[in-house]
Amino acid sequence: MALPRVRVVTLNAALGPLDYRVPDGMTVEPGSVVVAPLGPRQLIGVVWEADRLKTEEVGDNRLRPLAGLVDVPPIPAPLRRLCEWTADYYLSPLAAVLRMVMPSSAALDGPRTMVEYRATGDAPARLTPQREQALSRIEWRQGTVRELAAHAEVSEAVMRGLVHAGALERVEVDGDQPFPVPDPDFAPPNLNAEQQVAAGSLCAAVGNGFDPVLLDGVTGSGKTEVYFEAIAEAVRQGRQVLVLLPEIALTEPFLTRFTARFGCEPVAWHSDLRSSQRRRAWRSISKGEAQVVVGARSSLFLPYADLGVIVVDEAHEPSFKQEEGVQYHARDVAVMRGHFEQIPVILASATPAIETRHMVEIGRYRELKLTERHGLAQMPSIAAIDLTQDPPLRGRWLAPSLVADLQKNLDAGEQSLLFLNRRGFAPLTLCRHCGHRFQCPNCTAWMVEHRLMHRLACHHCGHVMPPPKACPECGEEDSLVACGPGVERIADEVAELFPAARTAVVTSDTIWSPARAAEFVRAMEAGEIDIVIGTQLVTKGYHFPNLTLVGVVDADLGLQGGDLRAAERSFQQIQQVAGRAGRGDKPGRVLVQTHDPDAPVIAALVSGDAPGFYAAETEARRDAAMPPFGRLAAIIISAEDKNEAEAVARRISNAAPKVDDMAVFGPAPAPLAMLRGRHRQRLLVHAARKLDVQDVIRDWLGELEWSNKVRVAVDVDPYSF
Ligand code: ADP
Ligand code: ZN
Repeated sequence: MALPRVRVVTLNAALGPLDYRVPDGMTVEPGSVVVAPLGPRQLIGVVWEADRLKTEEVGDNRLRPLAGLVDVPPIPAPLRRLCEWTADYYLSPLAAVLRMVMPSSAALDGPRTMVEYRATGDAPARLTPQREQALSRIEWRQGTVRELAAHAEVSEAVMRGLVHAGALERVEVDGDQPFPVPDPDFAPPNLNAEQQVAAGSLCAAVGNGFDPVLLDGVTGSGKTEVYFEAIAEAVRQGRQVLVLLPEIALTEPFLTRFTARFGCEPVAWHSDLRSSQRRRAWRSISKGEAQVVVGARSSLFLPYADLGVIVVDEAHEPSFKQEEGVQYHARDVAVMRGHFEQIPVILASATPAIETRHMVEIGRYRELKLTERHGLAQMPSIAAIDLTQDPPLRGRWLAPSLVADLQKNLDAGEQSLLFLNRRGFAPLTLCRHCGHRFQCPNCTAWMVEHRLMHRLACHHCGHVMPPPKACPECGEEDSLVACGPGVERIADEVAELFPAARTAVVTSDTIWSPARAAEFVRAMEAGEIDIVIGTQLVTKGYHFPNLTLVGVVDADLGLQGGDLRAAERSFQQIQQVAGRAGRGDKPGRVLVQTHDPDAPVIAALVSGDAPGFYAAETEARRDAAMPPFGRLAAIIISAEDKNEAEAVARRISNAAPKVDDMAVFGPAPAPLAMLRGRHRQRLLVHAARKLDVQDVIRDWLGELEWSNKVRVAVDVDPYSF
């Protein structure tokens, strides 16, 4: 008689599926989370339908028994199907996808009661510099000794010392404590007519199968209010809801609004959670108890027991595309999850991606429109400032007419926002004497000066150096100049122009946690900030009624580089930041600084002709058979040794199959020719929509081998290239 055997997918991406024997007394089913022995190791894995995966044949007599069954609900079938689809579509190991389902080992086998620590407020008798650093950095934070030590960048011994000295107290956290349940009728809104139509249609969709919907509403039209009604309906039906946000900084304002509508916070899932919070959220999600979850793209693969609707807010945002590991697009995978779960998926955006509009045009997605701002708020007026006619003074970046408007706004007690999508003080430091440019040693990138942090930093690998005093090439002192502006430099200019104005710089350097974002929102709402200078981080989601002027410092920035999506991205970004102006009852104005006011993007923004702009962009894509009319995949070959990368790239290129409707370009240096110390070569595959490129690439690369010093990654549907 055959022994009961099962096929297991472990979380180890280097391993294929493995077969095991089910020991007596253990009952498993597809989806069961198990402990699988491999050599001396114990691996976590998931039991899979054996007929869906191939593995090496192992005789019954060589099968090892499973070592244990983990006490969590089985991973549901729709999610297993989604994992298979994702692995297939993005050419990734199934195990790598499964790691996103089970990212927290603490959730699986950690103890229920977790011991954490927090500051008591009492200073220890002996205050060393290390202890001082530790206490000042952890502030009100709570966490395990290890988490606090990592956060404060001190050793665990220092933290333990603080515990002994009584400066930190022990807190026991119940990892199974239930979350409050949102009340769908806590504070329902009074929807306007247009909103009612959209909300009614979404509510009717909940419980009625797969239904991808583009919720296309201008900024401030109440998209959030509308999809909240779909959430309320799902909660009434006792089903779970996932809201995906593009940015962890947006979590905090979302929590506040959600609480106002539903009476309690939703469950948050993001990279800033402590391991006890992760455990609690994961287990509660998998048991179907956590009703509404809000999170970044990583929350998409969590094992919801009974999902009723998915919302992707700001669905056009490029940050939904993951660029490392499994290179998936969370917006697209969300729609696939909706398909496997048979539920509606709401894509909310004021500036939908061309891909998404195209899906509406070919009838695959429905569209619901909100054409007006809610209440008395009007759409802001947008005007261009031609920098060739109205140039800033020497050494400055803001045109006189923009400065004059900022002054007017200050005098009127209204808030202004200056947008420049560049962190730091200056993107390039140059020696005037010998022409030396400060480059990152690991990347094809300049070192960006960050004056607030007193250093130069590489935005790609994180390499930092102290601000140089002399040129390392010619030894000249006083010859280094900062070229070009970043937000910090604009903040300096504002401080010189308006010494009395209260300013805030908002970038990922200053807003790195939900708590920081909350503090920014509070200060804005309390009127403690007059002028915000920010990167793309301030373009989304925020609602500040007293913000009436937006200045776009350099509208030409995003158009450089000639990327396929450059124009679309620029349009979206400026439209979004413009959408922050005039959201209350005072009208908003947007001034866009450019050297080329006739560029199609700028002309469309000023004339308000979004449909015309989209139509022209879409036609250009159609003519070139670019996405969504054709398909792209990038094959990136990287190695520390340049020659090795080039040699493997050539071999892959030489082995390219001759397939109709497919062309292969390259190899050529990838856009970031060197990244984190690795040389990168790229092949670009361009194919017709109908071609199964993944299949072609799988066969093509499957025939080849290379040394493990060379990495080959495939980026299917690359966002930028
Ligand atoms: P969007 O997400 O489309 O930019 P929001 O949902 O943020 O728009 O709505 C903009 C502002 O208008 C928010 O402050 C919101 O609370 C308010 N608002 C929208 N619709 C209503 C409504 N029906 N009743 C009351 N306030 C509303
Ligand atoms: Zn670097």
